[in-house]
Formats: sequence, C-alpha cells, structure tokens
Amino acid sequence: MMGPNLVAGFWARVSWSPRRAAPETPRFATQGHTSAVSAASAGRHLQGVAVSFGAPDTLVSDGGIHLLLAGEIYNRDEVAKALGNASAAHGSDATLVLAAWHHWGMTAFRILNGRFAALLLDGGGRVVVATDHAGSVPLWLRADAHGVDVSTEAKTLAGLPGTPLGVAGAQLLPGGTGVHRVQAGTALILETVQGEVRTANRVYTWIPPVSRAAVGEEIAVGRVRRLLAQAVQTRLRDDPEPTVVLSGGIDSSGVAAHAVAHGGLVHSVSMGTEASDEFGPAKVVAGHLGTDHSEMTIHSSDLVRELPWAVWAAEIADHTILEYLLPLIALYRRLPPGPRRVLTGYGADIPLGGMHRHTEPLDLLDSVIAHDMATFDGLNEMSPVISGVAGIWSTHPYWDRDLLDCLISLDPGLKRRYGRDKWVLREALARMLPAETLSRPKLGIHEGSGTSSAWTALLLEKGVPPGRVEQCKAAMARRMHDLIVLRTRHPDEISFDEVLAATEKGRTRHGLKQ
Ligand code: AMP
Ligand code: MG
Repeated sequence: MMGPNLVAGFWARVSWSPRRAAPETPRFATQGHTSAVSAASAGRHLQGVAVSFGAPDTLVSDGGIHLLLAGEIYNRDEVAKALGNASAAHGSDATLVLAAWHHWGMTAFRILNGRFAALLLDGGGRVVVATDHAGSVPLWLRADAHGVDVSTEAKTLAGLPGTPLGVAGAQLLPGGTGVHRVQAGTALILETVQGEVRTANRVYTWIPPVSRAAVGEEIAVGRVRRLLAQAVQTRLRDDPEPTVVLSGGIDSSGVAAHAVAHGGLVHSVSMGTEASDEFGPAKVVAGHLGTDHSEMTIHSSDLVRELPWAVWAAEIADHTILEYLLPLIALYRRLPPGPRRVLTGYGADIPLGGMHRHTEPLDLLDSVIAHDMATFDGLNEMSPVISGVAGIWSTHPYWDRDLLDCLISLDPGLKRRYGRDKWVLREALARMLPAETLSRPKLGIHEGSGTSSAWTALLLEKGVPPGRVEQCKAAMARRMHDLIVLRTRHPDEISFDEVLAATEKGRTRHGLKQ
C-alpha cells in the first residue's frame, strides 16, 4: 500500500461514575481522518477519537479487552513466531499487540519493538498505558475523580474540565493543567479505588544499556550493517514509494542506501535556505543511489516563522530542540499533499556520539553518550506529530530498539576510530555510498540549513543585544509553549513578532536589565 496505514494518534477518556458529557472533538495537530471509538468493560466506558492515515483498524477488542494503538510494530514476525501463530504477522499491528497482551500480559511491552503508544482497557476495568522503548510517540494523561483522559497530544488534555488529580509514576507537566507524560519505556496500570486513581503497577520496558561490548571491528561492522538493514526494511512496510529526508550526511544517506537496496522507488528530498544548504552532498548521494530527488529552498525568515508550528507539533519549550525541528517541520509542510511514509536519519548521533566529535579521551566520549542517552526522554524530537502536522508518517531507523541497543553498547573506540567520528557506521556503509559521503564530517540540520543563524539574525535585527539572544530564544519558546500547548491556541494565531514583543515587555516589567 502506498503510504502509511495506521492510527497516528488518539485521545480517549475512560470513565467510571458518572459519565461526563462527550467533549468536543479534540483539536489534534496531526492531520488525518478522525473516527470515534467506544467500548465498555467492567463498568468502565471508553470513548475517544482516533486520527488515522489510510484506513486502519482503530479500536480492537477481544474477550472484553480493548486496545487503541497509535503507531506501528517492527518485530511483527518475531512476535508472531513467539506466539506460535505465524498468521498473526499478517493482521493489523493492533491485533498483534492484543494477542501479545493475552499471551504475556505486561511483559508484552518488553517484547515489542516499535514506534507506538498504547491504551488498553483490561477485563477488570483497569487502564493500561504504554510507550515504546524510546517514548517516540509521546503519550499524555490527565485524571480526575470520574475518569482518566489519555492522548498522544498534550494540548487535547490541557483545557479539560474537572479538577485534575496526581498520577503516580507519570511526569507532571508544569503549568497547572494536571497533564502528565508517560515516560519512555514505561507501562502503567491505573485503577480506581473509591474514586481515586491509583497506579497499581509501573513497569519499565526498556532502559538504555550502560554496559559496553568490546568486539572486533569486523563483528561490530557486520552487526551494525545487518541491524540497520533490518531497521530500514521493517520501516518500509512494503510501501512502494517511501521518502527519505536526505541531508547528504552519513546518517540519512545510509538510510537512503538501505531503502534503495530493498527495492521500490525511493524519493529523496533536501531542504536549504537562501543562507545555506547541503544540496551538493545530497545530490551526490541521490545520483549514486538513483533516488527520485528534489530540492526545496525556504527563505530563512519564513523558517523562523514556523516556530509556533514546531511548538504545536513537539509540545516542548526547549528552544534548542525546536531549532533542530524547524527545518524538518517547514519541509514536511511544503511537500506535495498525499499519503507519504518518510524515513529519516534522525538520532544516529546520540548513541554514536556524533555531536561530540571533538571530545578527546574515549572515556569522556562514553560518558557524554551515557549522559545523552539518560536525558533524551521528554525532548519529543522523534514525535510523529512533527510530520503529522502535514499528514505525513515519519519513522527513524537509528532508534529501532535492536539497532539502538547495539549502537549504544559498542565500545566507544569503535565509534571514534582512526580519527574518524561514527567510524563503525561509516564502515558499515562502505560499499553502499560514494567515498566523499563516507568521509563527510557531520553537520547538524540547524547548521546545514542556517536555521540558528536565521533566528539569531531576526532577534538582532529587532534590537535584542547579542549577549541576550539565547535567553530571549528560551523565553520565547516558553511563552509559545504556554499559549499553544497549555492554552490550546492554534499556531496560526501566534505571531513571532507578538511573542517577541510580549517577551521583551515581560522582561521590562520585571525590571530586568540586560
Ligand atoms: P542532523 O541534525 O543533520 O543529524 O539531521 C537529522 C536528520 O534530519 C537527517 O538524518 C536527515 O534525515 C534530516 N535532515 C537533516 N538536514 C536535512 C536537510 N537539509 N534536508 C533534508 N533532510 C535533512
Ligand atoms: Mg546533518
């Protein structure tokens, strides 16, 4: 099937006494078809809305157990085999997850390798919520005395009526809305006891390994090559026309190379601004692989004005991450409409230490990798809503659970070797890419496209002193998050200039000097 066929997000309320009137349709940032879902079990009522690409199963039920699954599963064959039911690999992912639940219970979430968020109402009226190992599909919840609302977008929960309650085991979002985030690699069982929501169980389903494997070069390279091939293949899902967002760096070029190796017509697209682009290196890769390649130039001032959309999609207030996400959001929003499955090279640098190419001693390199792996959760960089705002499904092979486990746990001396960063990955791609791509140093997306300089330039132009630019970006990001996520305003109603003016005014009011 061309394009994705999956539930990209959902909101649902599970209520006990008394049923709250159905709220208005939630306003998702994800642009797909919405459909209502409902179910009942053990005196609990589930009602909600799924937002889908294609025409997938939405709510699946079996034996009084109901499951809403957003996203997709990548180790389908493995799971089906373990269930002793090879045909389970041919049904929907939601059906497979439900079968896995019947077989393993909570342990199912330790077995699944996917990009998903799940809400399950079990036969005893308990509510189970679970994220994938990386929390790559953000999952949020809010409880009150009569029920619990669960959603893949925080903004759909922020304005709900009723006094919110605390939920143990989930992370409360600041801002007083009572919205909590389910952490990466976590499954929670919630139950009600005399009108109180209680976390009956919290299970960690994945944690980043801190052990390292000192294996030989050949073994390491072979392992990375095999797992990357598998991560790309399972993410293609037989789509005859996948798209790769291609910078021409080693990470996205590796994904494109494997996508081409699995057949089909691969589209590739590169974006740049009038200030800067990586079109040359991307073109070399596209020419070598024979992808259907296109370039997109976006004016840097237009790019910066996409900031409210980045906040709407990622639901974060961290300005550095928003800056990374801007070029991709702008690119996704300008692609021709229609069903599309996008593969990216996002995230390879985190387990491989690509951002730390100047960190010299190996133990220090390993420490920063361990630190980055311990602090990724909540940044929402890999949220599907980033592309979902344009009706596109995106997925990130380097954060496949099995590949990620392998990459993190390699001896750091295989990550930096012979004076080269990400050595093991470059070697793993040696016969698939041109020599100049294999040796190309890393350039971050915000650098290659000139995004950070665009935001900075605009602030300087508006009279923000150079020493206060970072602080101003941070304050603007927080204000946008407050308006767009917590106060549920639409990004089109939020102007960059107004936010800047309000931020600066707030500073003066508080008597701050520069
Ligand atoms: P980076 O920060 O360079 O690691 O970027 C993360 C991912 O975003 C890359 O692996 C690409 O898939 C994508 N990407 C980065 N820069 C561009 C670009 N200029 N055009 C298209 N895609 C890009
Ligand atoms: Mg790059």
